[in-house]
Amino acid sequence: MAEATWNRHHIISLADFTLAEYETVLQTATSFLEVLSRRTKKVPTLQGQVVTHLFFEPSTRTRSSFELAAKRLSADTLNFAPGTSSLTKGETILDTAKTYLAMGTDLMVIRHQQAGVPLAIAQEMDRLGSGVGVFNAGDGQHEHPSQALLDLFTICTSLSPDYPQISALKGKKIAIVGDILHSRVARSNLWSLTACGADVHLAAPPTLLPKQFSASFAAPLAEQSKAISTQIKTHWKIEPAVQDADFVMTLRLQKERMTRYLLPSLREYHQQFGITRDRLALCKPDVKVLHPGPVNRGVEISSDLMDDPALSLIPKQVANGVAVRMALLYLMGTSRN
Ligand code: ASP
Repeated sequence: MAEATWNRHHIISLADFTLAEYETVLQTATSFLEVLSRRTKKVPTLQGQVVTHLFFEPSTRTRSSFELAAKRLSADTLNFAPGTSSLTKGETILDTAKTYLAMGTDLMVIRHQQAGVPLAIAQEMDRLGSGVGVFNAGDGQHEHPSQALLDLFTICTSLSPDYPQISALKGKKIAIVGDILHSRVARSNLWSLTACGADVHLAAPPTLLPKQFSASFAAPLAEQSKAISTQIKTHWKIEPAVQDADFVMTLRLQKERMTRYLLPSLREYHQQFGITRDRLALCKPDVKVLHPGPVNRGVEISSDLMDDPALSLIPKQVANGVAVRMALLYLMGTSRN
């Protein structure tokens, strides 16, 4: 594995990711995808390092994928489960993180239902001068950087399987359809896809896509906000979003985050915003569909489409997730030394 330049100490958000960083992630993940195709799928890169997974919210894909990635890199892994931990005895989240630090943790992967928890832990680790690198594995409605990076890798490998590059995304139309309001996946993807030059069309009912969404989203970074406001279009109907799209990313309705009645019914939602073969007929002929999972079959996407390898990149996203997370652990783990 060639030495890559990597100066980032934590991965909390993609808002300030540079094009060079996206490119490095793609190239490193490509190498690890090759490792994962070998008979022996393990490399000694992180031997002796401890990767701790602190998941305060349920997860199937992200947790298992980070854990497998760490194991493939020969790291030792620790897994924290809130229900059986000392959190139930009143221990604070920061004290929990410090306990794992005292055990020799080098990298922490954190998911929490509240936005800002991974950042707070990263700041505490820095204050203590610990050198621990923190990954945000999904915080509330804020961000899910590793998901957006695996989505980017999946899109770029679908465009150019042998040598995925971000330049392939320039001018591609990507429709993101579904519960955008509650989606940290959409927020992270907006940073990466627009930075790489894609045109992003968001589609959802008005209750799940406030009119000011893209403007308020772009506000924190002046130089990126110009690009974002011209590259993001919002629609309250699905047709203009998917018309001539190269990729359609559909998102789960996050019922656990909906505090009010935001939709008439799931059936009506499917009729108006569900991804079906009829709707895909409006897209480019070689359109591909993505979904971060978990999927409500028959709600955001029709069940048969999900299983159609000619159209669905969903299993690829999961497989690529391991290679991309190996790349992230490798880049952070080796730059610390
Ligand atoms: N798995 C993704 C997340 O954790 C998407 C979802 O849950 O719908 O944000």
